[in-house]
Amino acid sequence: MRAQVLICPTITLKAYGHLYCAPRRLHRYGSSSPSQFLNLNLSRFSGRLLTSFFSMQFQSGAGSSGKKAMVENLKRYGVISSKRVAQVMEDLDRGLFVPAGSSAYVDTPVPIGYNATISAPHMHATCLQLLEDKLQPGMRALDVGSGTGYLTGCFALMVGAEGRVVGVDHIPELVDMSIKNIEKSVAASLLKKGYLSLHVGDGRKGWQEFAPYDAIHVGAAASEIPQPLLDQLKPGGRMVIPLGTYFQELKVIDKSEDGSIKAHTETSVRYVPLTSRDEQLGGF
Ligand code: SAH
Repeated sequence: MRAQVLICPTITLKAYGHLYCAPRRLHRYGSSSPSQFLNLNLSRFSGRLLTSFFSMQFQSGAGSSGKKAMVENLKRYGVISSKRVAQVMEDLDRGLFVPAGSSAYVDTPVPIGYNATISAPHMHATCLQLLEDKLQPGMRALDVGSGTGYLTGCFALMVGAEGRVVGVDHIPELVDMSIKNIEKSVAASLLKKGYLSLHVGDGRKGWQEFAPYDAIHVGAAASEIPQPLLDQLKPGGRMVIPLGTYFQELKVIDKSEDGSIKAHTETSVRYVPLTSRDEQLGGF
């Protein structure tokens, strides 16, 4: 069976230098939430490239061909350059993390309920690439706004059994779902043996128990960098965090060994907000 193709050739909008490609058929997958367009990179691709990205058609289902085609396309478009990142995205089946009936391997965010989305594969790949050096075997990683648990699971596979990975989300139902997703996946034994854990909490406070972290990923856009996350970043560590409200930038924050902070902007993005639970669920 072929996956539903998401096409957007007619609604590629140029706004303030960012290309925004709204997948116009996304409503077929259920939610009418505006968050259905979120968690994607707005500026990396030219209109033509972005169009072909959204038009990528892969085999659906949990078979290996869909995953392989997704990763091959991310490599072809230059999003993935690392063998480890390619391997982990092939090993952890995105099909186990998206809601039933959704297109698992099409490069688009998918609504997961609670005004949240699973990020588009190119966003997961971008963040894994940016954090790869800090996801070596034995390292520690924190995933704030862990949602479906897909990226948390990727982190766990990369740092392995000598490492420690923590996912935090403030929606209990999403944390339950992420645990069930991981239990079905190749990361299940890491969860069972306690090298990976997923918790309900306000991710703006980080997760002190296993700090400091070599890698911190924030999967929702903050208006400013929460101080606890900076405090919990290890000297020599790296944080990737979307910053901003409507217009957002993916920031890469490096903490040097002497504790000083350097930041650079990687790209423009569109993520759901890092906010309070009430604020997120308002109107849901
Ligand atoms: N990266 C995840 C989910 C991205 S959606 C994935 O790809 O599956 C952003 C997530 O951030 C949502 O699950 C939302 O519930 C969570 N979130 C938003 N604000 C939060 C906060 N203050 N603390 C913890 N989680 C938060």
